[in-house]
Amino acid sequence: MTADEFKALCVPASCTLRQALAALNDTGRGVLLVLHPDGRLRRTLTDGDLRRAALQSLGDSTQVAQLPEQAPITVGTDATLASGLAVLDQHQIDHLPIVDAQGRVVDVMFRRELSQRIWLSSPHLGEEETAFVEDAFKTNWIAPLGPHVDGFERELAAHVGVKHAAALSSGTAAIHLALLLLGVKPGDPVFCSSLTFVGSCNPILYCAAQPVFIDSEPHTWNMSPSALLHAFEAARREGRMPRCVIVVNLYGQSADIDAIAPLCERYGVPLLEDAAESLGALYKGRASGSFGRIGIYSFNGNKIITTSGGGMLVADDPALVERARKLATQAREPAAHYEHVEVGFNYRMSNVLAGIGRGQLRVLEQRVMQRRQVFETYRSALLDQTQIQWMPEPEGYRSTRWLTCFTLAGVNAQARRNLVLRALERHSIEARPVWKPMHLQPLFQGAPFFGHEGGDVSAGMFEAGICLPSGSNLTADQQTRVIEQLRRALALAAA
Ligand SMILES: *Cc1c(COP(=O)(O)O)cnc(C)c1O
Repeated sequence: MTADEFKALCVPASCTLRQALAALNDTGRGVLLVLHPDGRLRRTLTDGDLRRAALQSLGDSTQVAQLPEQAPITVGTDATLASGLAVLDQHQIDHLPIVDAQGRVVDVMFRRELSQRIWLSSPHLGEEETAFVEDAFKTNWIAPLGPHVDGFERELAAHVGVKHAAALSSGTAAIHLALLLLGVKPGDPVFCSSLTFVGSCNPILYCAAQPVFIDSEPHTWNMSPSALLHAFEAARREGRMPRCVIVVNLYGQSADIDAIAPLCERYGVPLLEDAAESLGALYKGRASGSFGRIGIYSFNGNKIITTSGGGMLVADDPALVERARKLATQAREPAAHYEHVEVGFNYRMSNVLAGIGRGQLRVLEQRVMQRRQVFETYRSALLDQTQIQWMPEPEGYRSTRWLTCFTLAGVNAQARRNLVLRALERHSIEARPVWKPMHLQPLFQGAPFFGHEGGDVSAGMFEAGICLPSGSNLTADQQTRVIEQLRRALALAAA
């Protein structure tokens, strides 16, 4: 609903039943908002109200003000989707005006809209996946491992230009194994981007190692090379060099690898690339996730391609990937009687899921283009919204725009961000804050943090940042709904 459409729903009590009927017909929302001259809501007016008026033989020229008084059912601006729905259900109504502290209507919840939820990032399956899964059933390769696992590993490795790949049960499992492969031991410091999903750094705790968090830089939202340098210098002074650096490529965009990788090399620390969110992204023409000693991807349900759940570990060194496969299958030694000399895990991907992955990989490039198009649709439709600062895409980067993200410029960003999110949620649009940085999480309380140029860029992004629905399967109508509601939400938040 645009601002103009909303305005068209508002009528004065002096309008006639005839005019009201025409307005109901024109707006097609099943409800009008009858306002007092000072803008407060006097009542709502529905088709049913007009029908009852007709039955009472009130003429066309009767004013709405002459209808029997009827106190409107409303909720305040703090209403959530759940509380609004509860009121709709309780009163068996289909529209619910939202009024501010002064009693003025600022928005309306419509039941019809609420049942058509727009998701942040939902799975988008093509046609080939079914064929691969059917093949797995036909050949009885339902067990873990099998030809689709081998095929998916080969095809993904080729796609990103890395020599070897191991298909695993999740991206988190891939990071866990990568840390073990890089020799992370209990008590070892491990550097990690702070602005990320907890899956990046939970594995540091699995290893009983010590996370050290590195801030973001404003122009990529990813790891700040200057903060990383400070962290290295501090580690050198203390004689406690990290065992590895986990660099995260956020929201479909690579970190500035050409600034980060040489630092890691200078200090002799291997780079682990968490590309869970950036499969399909390019950095200076090369695939995101292909730059570290080890790279990892995720195929969780919300990622750009999915196997419902899954992950991949990639490396050029065949010994690393061979060892990842062994650790992922209970560290079984090559003996018929199941010999074991070290602790292992059950982290392999199943053949059925790998079949889905093979089908998804074939549409990856298409999905990248679709997500980029979603971003472009939002950006071009909201050019006039000066408070929006889109996540930048620097020269030489190709983001997948896995999620379309922006920060709000100006003061009180966090309060405005919350207002916008709440307003979108009331219209059943799933938007999210930008990740809460790990150095601000209770789980990692006390972990060292190195800020960008003495500041805290990631905290600012969290406070002001919003991720919009970005799925490659969003319809044009859904994108229009997001744009219209976001525009209204931004106006509300600016008021
Ligand atoms: C999704 C994600 C992970 C974890 O992947 P799973 O497959 O869900 O275990 C790790 N890091 C980042 C940045 C992610 O977005």
